[in-house]
Formats: sequence, structure tokens, C-alpha cells
Amino acid sequence: MTKFRLRYAPSPTGFLHIGNTRTALMNYLFAKHYNGDFIVRIEDTDLERNVEGAIESQFENLNWLGINADESFLKPGEEKYGKYMQSQKFGRYEELAEKLISIKKAYRCFCTTEELEKDYEDQVAKGIVATKYSGKCARLSESEIGSNLKSNKDFSIRFLVPETTLNIKDFIKGEITFDSKELGDFVILKTNKIATYNFAVVVDDFDMGISHVLRGEEHISNTPRQILIYQAFGWETPQFGHMSLIVDSTGKKLSKRSGNALFFIEQYKNQGYLPEAMFNYISLLGWSPIGEKELLTKQELISMFDDKRFSKSPSTFDMTKMKWINSQYMKALSEEEYLEFTKKYINTEMFNTKDKSEDWLNQVLLLFKKELEFADQINNHLNIFFNEVDVTSETIEILKTIEEHESVIKEFETQISTLNEWEIENIKSLIKLVSENTGKKGKHLFMPIRIASSSSEHGPSLADVIYLLGKDKVLVNIAKVK
Ligand code: GLU
Repeated sequence: MTKFRLRYAPSPTGFLHIGNTRTALMNYLFAKHYNGDFIVRIEDTDLERNVEGAIESQFENLNWLGINADESFLKPGEEKYGKYMQSQKFGRYEELAEKLISIKKAYRCFCTTEELEKDYEDQVAKGIVATKYSGKCARLSESEIGSNLKSNKDFSIRFLVPETTLNIKDFIKGEITFDSKELGDFVILKTNKIATYNFAVVVDDFDMGISHVLRGEEHISNTPRQILIYQAFGWETPQFGHMSLIVDSTGKKLSKRSGNALFFIEQYKNQGYLPEAMFNYISLLGWSPIGEKELLTKQELISMFDDKRFSKSPSTFDMTKMKWINSQYMKALSEEEYLEFTKKYINTEMFNTKDKSEDWLNQVLLLFKKELEFADQINNHLNIFFNEVDVTSETIEILKTIEEHESVIKEFETQISTLNEWEIENIKSLIKLVSENTGKKGKHLFMPIRIASSSSEHGPSLADVIYLLGKDKVLVNIAKVK
């Protein structure tokens, strides 16, 4: 069996987002499952649309996610497959376009933009919806071509579409039949000598020995054109598979404007998502492994990958599930890993960690290990530990619903003021004592103590919170609710 070689071929018109990450990731899993190669190459023929920094950012984010290329322009395959960036291959495309002319599978088109526009408008006026090139220049005589060339008339190169019916066996969508009559002769090399996408992609996939083209379904309409080019050269066609759309909760294609769903990988990284969790969740978009297990490592996904398990229907990007998966990965971190990771996200402008001991900070952070969905959420919890916090009127209202809360708070204050050894165990015993002395239990005991000590009705283990706030702060807080 020939080696499986798959590729992710982004156009640097933007940054890595959920959609193109899914394409990269599935190609990676497919290649790795079969011990094949995963290639990242850049499709930058549309020079005006290239965005500065997009390539670097794509690579950085792919590496962050653990989608590592075996070959790319940063790591070329000893150049035996040619260049990994289309803008460095213009000569190769031109040479091959000329070759197609020489075997009469392509021709020079001397039509000007004005002529083409006029032709297009005439077709629209006749009510033709699927407008296409008239094929005029395919009928030029050798002498007409010669004199056009002599007078240096600009030309593009068009592919001569043969009349045929294509039966495409898409390994995801099934069989797709396509009548080539629907296509006009399309441009493969523009007047500026730059190859068009459909031509360059075929040349690259051939040059790089790509065995499977796995991409989003928005490329289905390009596939017949590409297959015709393979056939014109007599090249073996790779297998094609088109993944269904990823949609948001409203059923629209996932985009920058998709409500609460973050779109770009960089946004997740900035919010403190773990790359392993993202890898896991994105692998489940439009694909599923056998069995119920959803939390899967990269190695497990590589070994479970099966190209027969892609879904034909759209997959919904579910932000709640993404968060849940991330929270599971955060819980599974060791304490050291969690602390190292979370510390990077502390907003040090709001929380001055410099004045605090490392040990104290670690204990505060660990209080929230089971709660955080992503690391940046730690900043929602730190205020009471670092800053002077006012108790809100809503919290006071909640306090007022607890009968005789005053007596609990008074007793708690008395006990706290006289506590000598500030230890968690002693604080736990102290809370028991307040219960015995006031006769209050459950919510009637804990809610007044929690609100009085931390100015908040929610939080992790009460004794831990009191211990880490420290005696002085707890006494200041109690004074606010009295
Ligand atoms: N450059 C194309 C894109 O970014 C990918 C083309 C392909 O996979 O064939 O959508």
C-alpha cells in the first residue's frame, strides 16, 4: 500500500479558527492512524487577500494544539515534493499550464475583461443563471493566435473542459455524479501568470503525493474541475472526502458572529483553555469514535480514527460542551500543573500577587480547581482574597431572609476574635461551637457565617475560605454586615 499522505492547505487570508482547525485535525488523525504523513502547505495565490501575520499565527496555534506537521515550509521534506508555499511555485504552474496547451487540453484566451463582462451580461439578460465562458478563444485559428501573440496581447490560459460525466466517490458523502456541461472552460493561469486555486491545488497535491483530500464541503463544487485536471495530465486522482458544515446553535455556519461561541483558537488560548481539551472536542465535530467515551487523548483518537465514521449531516458547535470538556481536563491536571497553568491567567493589575506568599497563593488557587471551566475564570474568584470588597445589597437581602442571623454573626465574631491558633482544623471546630452555642444548623448557620466572613453567599469550603482570608480581613468583613 502506498503511504497515506494528507494535507492541510490554508490560504493565509485569516487566522486559525474552529472550522479550519477541524480540517487540519482530521487530516492529522487520518494520516497518523495509518502511520502516514501530515503536510501543511500554504495556498497564497490570491496575493491581495493575504493577511499579514496569518501564516505565523496559523503555525503557532496548530503547534499549540499538538497538530504538528511532518512537512511544511518550516520543515520541508528535503524538497523532494517541491515548495510548500504556492507563491514560490509560480514557474512550475506556468510550465504545466503551457504543457496542457501543447497537448490541446488548454488554450490561450485573449478576451479582455470588458468582453468577458459584456458576454456575462448578455447571458444574464437571456435569463441564464449558470453563466459560463463562451469558449470563443478555443475556436481561434493558429494564425489568429500567432498574430495576437505577436502584438503582445494579454492572455489567460483556460482549461478545455471535455464533455464527460464524472462519478465522484466521496468517502464521506458517497457517490456524486457531475455533468461537465455545467462547467465553462475555466481559467488556470491568469493574465498576470499567477495560477488559480483549482489549478495550483491539483499540481501541489500531485507534486506532494497526496493520497486523500479531506476538506470542508464548501469545496465540493471545486472537485469536478480538479478531477478533470488530473485526468488531463493522466495523473492518479487522490480520494476525496468532504466534511459537513459546522453550525452554531442557531443552525448557521459557525463564524465570527456566532453568538457566544468563540471562533478563533487564539481566543480560547487567551481565555485559558487547554490544548488537549480543544483537540479532544474539535475531533468530535462531524466525526465520532465507536463507543460512549468522549474524553479521549490524542493517542486514543489516533488509534480510534476511522474514516467511515464521519457524519453526513452538519455538526453543531456547542460552547457548553467545549467548556465542560475543558473543565474535565482541568480537574485531571496534577496540582502542580494546575497551579503553573492558572497562574499565567491571573490579572496582576487587579490582584497584586507580589505581596503574597507563594504558599498562600497556591492554596487560594487550589480552592477553585474543581470549579474552573477555563483558567481565566480564576479572576472571578480572587477579589475577596486581594481587595476590599463591599457587600452588595442583594447579598444583604439574602442574609435578611435567614432568621436570627444576627445572633450567629455575633457569636462567630466573638469566637473569631479570641481564636489564637489560626489553623483550618481550629476554624472547623469554631464553626461547630458557633452551632452549639446558637442552636443553628445547615443554611441557618453557614449562610450568615459565609456572608459575614467573605461578603459573598457563594464559595468553596467555608473553613478554607476563612483560613485564607485571614483573621483581620474576616473581622473587617463582619463589621460590614452588622
Ligand atoms: N486553501 C483552501 C482553503 O483555505 C483549501 C483548499 C483545499 O483543501 O483543497 O479553504
